[in-house]
Amino acid sequence: MLNIVIFGAPGSGKGTQSEKIVAKYGINHISTGDVLRAEIKGGTELGKIAKGYIDQGQLIPDELIIDILAKTLDSFQESKGVIFDGFPRTIPQAEALKKVLAERGQEVSIMLDLDVPEEELMTRLIKRGQESGRADDNEETIKKRLVVYHNQTAPLIDWYKQDGKYQHIKGFGLLEDIFAEICEAVDKVK
Ligand code: ATP
Ligand code: MG
Repeated sequence: MLNIVIFGAPGSGKGTQSEKIVAKYGINHISTGDVLRAEIKGGTELGKIAKGYIDQGQLIPDELIIDILAKTLDSFQESKGVIFDGFPRTIPQAEALKKVLAERGQEVSIMLDLDVPEEELMTRLIKRGQESGRADDNEETIKKRLVVYHNQTAPLIDWYKQDGKYQHIKGFGLLEDIFAEICEAVDKVK
C-alpha cells in the first residue's frame, strides 16, 4: 500500500501534483477541498455548514472532516493506496489519520511538503480566483487562509518529522521538475 500525504500551504500545487501522482502510481485520490466543494454545489446539509467556514477562510471542524475521510476511504475497493490531498490540516486530523490507517493495518508511507514562497502563493491564488471564480480565492480570504495555515497546519511539519515520514519538496519552478523530485522520493518508499 502506498499512502501519500501531500502537504503545503493554499496554492502550493497539491491538486496539480496529486493528479500526476495518481496517473503514475494508480492510487486513489482524496481531496477534502474537492469533496467539500461538491457538497456545497449539491446544496447538502454538510455543504451549507462547510460554506460558512470556507468563505471565512477557516477550517471545517475536525469531527466533520474526519468523518468524511473515513467514509471516502471505505468507498475505495481493491485500492493500491491513497493520496491524501488537503488532509490532514491539524494535529488531531493527523492523529485520526494514523488511527484510521492502523485499524486497516496500514500507515502513511511518506509526507510530501510542497514548499513555495509566500509571494508566489498569493500570485497563484489571485490568478486562480480570476480564472475559476473560486469564492475563497480573493485577496482578503487568501490572507486569512495563510494565517490559518501558519497557525494550525504548519505544526504538522514537525509532527511528521517526528513520525519519520517527512520529505521536503521544492514546490516552485517547472511542474515537471517538481514532479521528478516527488517521484524520486516516492520510489524510495514504494
Ligand atoms: P491547494 O490550492 O494546494 O489545493 P487550498 O487550500 O487552496 O489548497 P483546498 O484544499 O481545496 O484548497 O481547501 C479549501 C478549503 O476547504 C479550506 O480553506 C478549508 O476551509 C476547507 N478544508 C479542506 N480540507 C480541510 C481539512 N482537512 N480540514 C478542515 N478544513 C478543510
Ligand atoms: Mg486543492
